[in-house]
Amino acid sequence: MKKLYGVIGDPIGHSMSPDMHNDAFGALHMEAYYHPFHIKSEELKTAVAGMKAIGLSGFNVTVPHKTAIMPLLDEIDPLAEAIGAVNTVVRDENRFIGYNTDGEGFVRGLNEEYGSSVLDKKIMIIGAGGAARAIYYTLSQQGAERVDIANRTPAKAEELKSRCPYPVETALLSLEQAEEQLGDYDIIIQTTSIGMSPKVSETPIHVKNIRPDAFVSDIIYNPAETMIMKEAKKRGARVQNGLKMFAYQGALAFEKWTGILPDTERMQKIVQNKLGGTSC
Ligand code: NAP
Repeated sequence: MKKLYGVIGDPIGHSMSPDMHNDAFGALHMEAYYHPFHIKSEELKTAVAGMKAIGLSGFNVTVPHKTAIMPLLDEIDPLAEAIGAVNTVVRDENRFIGYNTDGEGFVRGLNEEYGSSVLDKKIMIIGAGGAARAIYYTLSQQGAERVDIANRTPAKAEELKSRCPYPVETALLSLEQAEEQLGDYDIIIQTTSIGMSPKVSETPIHVKNIRPDAFVSDIIYNPAETMIMKEAKKRGARVQNGLKMFAYQGALAFEKWTGILPDTERMQKIVQNKLGGTSC
């Protein structure tokens, strides 16, 4: 009998995870199917119980359920607990265990594109939302030495820093300070929603002070090249969009379910083709 996996969210019609995972199951000749489930917040508790009852082998969790699902699971991985969000649920016998693969997915994609480990580099994260939290805590958990945070709302960056359970040196900056001091950083990670389609001409900061040997990783992948990436490239910096992060967070979920890490290049191509463009 085919194993059943899926993703829950509201809305869910736009999700590219079903294409990515069903292609991977096909490529690996696995008897499995991945389905998008549209679950409203008020139905979340019933849905989780239902998925357990019908024998779902695992599922992804997307907006707006990543935090709300946590008390409904039997166990939460410590990193997901620290991040305060679950994007992957694994079934172990009759128990549902929650993980977060967003941060690890990002770091894998960054290391791969950067060409070496980034842990000893001077890193700036722009933004202090959910994605920034996953990235900041994962970098800190893995032993990053210095990760500074620049955000529009200082209190949110302060909260991120004060709740980080892993040791890391962090200074907090305004977006104006980030622009001024950009030349001090080896790696700049853009995690705000600014620059995302359709507002493609917007940028959270201007990068006139960036060093030509710096690296900019924007976690947005639509458009494939955001304004901050364009500006950084003009000044000689290397850039990366969020496609690798997306593919890797999916690949790591797949690995937790099946024990097999699928072909992430192939996963990226699926998403790229669905978006109808090229990636960086
Ligand atoms: P979020 O929790 O809502 O956080 C949004 C962040 O953007 C906050 O830091 C917010 O600053 C900042 N921001 C929003 N509008 C702004 C503005 N006009 N000026 C200055 N700052 C602004 O969102 P999220 O879940 O972290 O997602 C952020 C982005 O990452 C989205 O574009 C999402 O699609 C993308 N993402 C990509 C992947 C991937 O796999 N590649 C995964 C997850 C998310 P304040 O704190 O001041 O409000």
